[in-house]
Amino acid sequence: MKKNFWLLVGSQTLYGDDVLKTVDARAAEMARYLNEGGKLPYALLYKGTAKSNGEISDVIREANYDAECAGIITWCHTFSPSKMWINGLAALQKPYCHLATQYNRDIPNEEIDMDFMNLNQAAHGDREHGFIAARLRMPRKVIAGYWKDERVIGKLSAWMRSAIGVAVSRALRLMRFGDNMREVAVTEGDKVEVQAKLGWQVNTWAVGDLVKEMNAVTEAEIDAQMAEYEAKYDIATDNLAAIRYQAREEIAIEKMMKREGCLAFSNTFQDLYGMEQLPGLASQHLMSKGYGYGGEGDWKVAAMTAIMKAMGEGGNGASAFMEDYTYHLEKGNEYSLGAHMLEVCPSLAADKPRIETHHLGIGMNEKDPARLVFEGKAGSAIVVSLVDMGGRLRLICQDIECVKPIMDMPNLPVARVMWRPLPDLLTGIECWITAGGAHHTVLSYDVSAEMMKDFANMMGIEFVHITKDTTVDALEEKLMIADLVWKLK
Ligand code: MN
Repeated sequence: MKKNFWLLVGSQTLYGDDVLKTVDARAAEMARYLNEGGKLPYALLYKGTAKSNGEISDVIREANYDAECAGIITWCHTFSPSKMWINGLAALQKPYCHLATQYNRDIPNEEIDMDFMNLNQAAHGDREHGFIAARLRMPRKVIAGYWKDERVIGKLSAWMRSAIGVAVSRALRLMRFGDNMREVAVTEGDKVEVQAKLGWQVNTWAVGDLVKEMNAVTEAEIDAQMAEYEAKYDIATDNLAAIRYQAREEIAIEKMMKREGCLAFSNTFQDLYGMEQLPGLASQHLMSKGYGYGGEGDWKVAAMTAIMKAMGEGGNGASAFMEDYTYHLEKGNEYSLGAHMLEVCPSLAADKPRIETHHLGIGMNEKDPARLVFEGKAGSAIVVSLVDMGGRLRLICQDIECVKPIMDMPNLPVARVMWRPLPDLLTGIECWITAGGAHHTVLSYDVSAEMMKDFANMMGIEFVHITKDTTVDALEEKLMIADLVWKLK
């Protein structure tokens, strides 16, 4: 669905019609400017100047009801007494951003008089406006700066993407094939709590239903899917039957997800009854189309992958299901190597991926599954993990620096990404483990930590960020305080 955002401008009737006309024209000009030339990732609709409790309540009710509205942005050109906003804001169900900006960039030395001051008093109006949201303890984003400034537009764009993550999350349906891998703790979670808090509808379908769907896939459908693989990837195997089998799996999984309106799925290598191969290439190609995926029944990471993909560039960013696998512990040259049994999204690839087939010893594979093999891109990124702490959800985000893998690893038959977590590998591991972060993560190059923090705030869940400045001591203290705070919530 095409999403948009609403701009509401605060004022009041005290200043007379001329001032209100100017405010209205300038707000419209602002929305027009910001919508031009793709400055923002989503349309900004100016919804009028708010002058009374009734007007504000009406427009917020409308925003709540409008399925296309993904959030509201407010700004006070003049003073706008905030008791007018209480009823509306208390009812607001959409993400909320307070843009503390000003029509004029500069103070005009000659022109400035008391009329100018009364018309251009955002410095004053935005403080009154900010107080009431603080008083109401509302989750919100505050962005300050001149509206034509690139930094401001960048922050507004990033916040919009986070709000899109909220919209996707609240509507997310997830298809599980099989349960979680036996005995694993971190991939578990309270599905009722997650639905109440994040909106996720997490339900299970039988692997037998998938097999039935696979058997109904036609050779013509598989031919078309093969043509797509050939166009996108280098085929580096003679075992075309294995690739065709993955095509069959992909088509069947996608048909079932489309039928049920699902944007994410999970499966487990321990439950592949009636299937010859664990979906490798199939899951990878589905992820490249924007679907979320989690291995070993990890529905939390599957959902987060779908959400972060939707938050990324063009609504399908470079975000992927990932797993910390093994370390390179050479002093001064330390790295983590991430991969998975098969399923790494090609949106992370530095070069054109290859389709290969190899034996997979783990699980129930009767035949060698086809998979995409590639190296991940170099660049700054984040890894994100959502864990269930019992009574609350914790979203852990770590800044990482991806590099071109420092060795070829010619016998490693899976896609791989190499990175150094911040502040350094060892402190980074200590922090991650201290916070309870999972081995499964979503790795993203184009979703920022700030966007994830905003997402967590809007969702009302705990956020832990491990940065270049994090120490184990400081983190432990933060987590201890968070335990206390979240018990009170
Ligand atoms: Mn795994």
